[in-house]
Amino acid sequence: MKAVQKHQVMVVDDNHDDLRLLSQYLAELGLDVRVSVSAENALELIGQSLPDLIVLDYKMPEMDGISLCQRLKGDERTRHIPVMFVSAVCGSDEIVSALESGAVDFVRKPFDKAEILARIKNHLNLQQQTATLRRALNECRDTFSQSSEGFFHRLIERVNSVYWIVSGDWQQMHYVNPAYESVWGESSDRLRAEPLAWLNRLASADARTIRQCIERAMREVPDMISLPDYRLILSDGSMKWVQTKGYRIEPANHNDDRYAWVSTDISERKSNEQNLNYLANHDPLTGLRNRLQLAERVESEIVRSKRHGHSLALLIIDVDHFKSVNDCYGHMAGDLALCALAAVLKEQIRSIDSAFRYGGEEFVVILPEESLEQALQVAERIRLRVSAQPLQLESGDVNITVSIGVSVYPEDGDGYNRLVRVADDHLLNAKRQGRNCVQPAYD
Ligand code: GH3
Ligand code: MG
Ligand code: MG
Repeated sequence: MKAVQKHQVMVVDDNHDDLRLLSQYLAELGLDVRVSVSAENALELIGQSLPDLIVLDYKMPEMDGISLCQRLKGDERTRHIPVMFVSAVCGSDEIVSALESGAVDFVRKPFDKAEILARIKNHLNLQQQTATLRRALNECRDTFSQSSEGFFHRLIERVNSVYWIVSGDWQQMHYVNPAYESVWGESSDRLRAEPLAWLNRLASADARTIRQCIERAMREVPDMISLPDYRLILSDGSMKWVQTKGYRIEPANHNDDRYAWVSTDISERKSNEQNLNYLANHDPLTGLRNRLQLAERVESEIVRSKRHGHSLALLIIDVDHFKSVNDCYGHMAGDLALCALAAVLKEQIRSIDSAFRYGGEEFVVILPEESLEQALQVAERIRLRVSAQPLQLESGDVNITVSIGVSVYPEDGDGYNRLVRVADDHLLNAKRQGRNCVQPAYD
């Protein structure tokens, strides 16, 4: 991975192994890494020298990650430092409370090296851009108050983010730089008569939230406001992601609140994030969803099944003697066989069902609203299809068979772990029965 310039990153984790691993990765990236095994010690170190990014564990004895993040966000000196959580505790409640405490990101443990480093690079880049803008803004603010308009214009016209100065009540647009025309793809003339006309370009899914945020800012007059990222739909139909922040300018005349707003095109960052999300949730070989997604999906299907009084079936499908497929045809053919099997699974299930790569040569299929009897029929159909038609690979046809273990909610359990355990026991039974069969047996 390409080195980034020497940024300083602070890693706080009470788990020595995770701390060592992550700091080693970061050091490989050429970053200046400082570590701490406790939140209290981290606060002291951060006070001595401010890092560019803080990577925090969620659960720590005494002061936990959330409390530390809140302390940092409440302190003028440290509130601008991005905080990223890395944790094995990863329910949506924890993720939401981490983001609400001011964190910019949340990565699950065990983490993928390439993913976490890419995220860290993104946050460091963004942090650097924000710092540059903040400096430019401070210079502009000074210059503006001294009415040194020549300098102010030269500076602001070099920035490719949109920079505008507006009255606190959005009745008057004092200034907008030329970048508005390239980001919004339209002339800024209209803004002078109608300062909120920029909202017309917002995607309808985002417009309401952003309007509400602007209205709240008018009422509460905060020193700083960060709008949720939103989409612009340009006149040619293309879409852009934009990040907007507003900073209150202390007016010379206190009846005249003004805000400097900075809007930056973050489409490239968003598309990187979407790719990373896809990679984190899908198996790169077969394109099926991975095991991380499975537990979440089963738990939410169980909640839905409970609410509607439905059953839910889970199939674990394991290739028989797959090791000998690799041994006979080579590992590459083995990989292609797994892809071909994934395609068979997708073709054999309904659109409301879903297939996952559980690991190695094991797959899981979940069948909402299916009883044991129906699930056994589906499993039998998959088994027959696999054994009857060889997988057609470039290197030739490969005959494989599968063994399948089936479990159903609510009869076998009402949680993910229990359903997997029961299906796994049945799978083991199917292997004992001689393979190429479904268990429990269908009578
Ligand atoms: P059984 O019928 O008992 O399941 O026998 P098996 O050989 O399928 O089971 P075992 O667990 O002994 O071996 C699984 C094999 O699957 C070993 C491993 O090399 C292979 N395997 C796991 N993941 C992959 C993969 O991504 N690609 C390839 N080509 N092979 C894989
Ligand atoms: Mg196997
Ligand atoms: Mg196996």
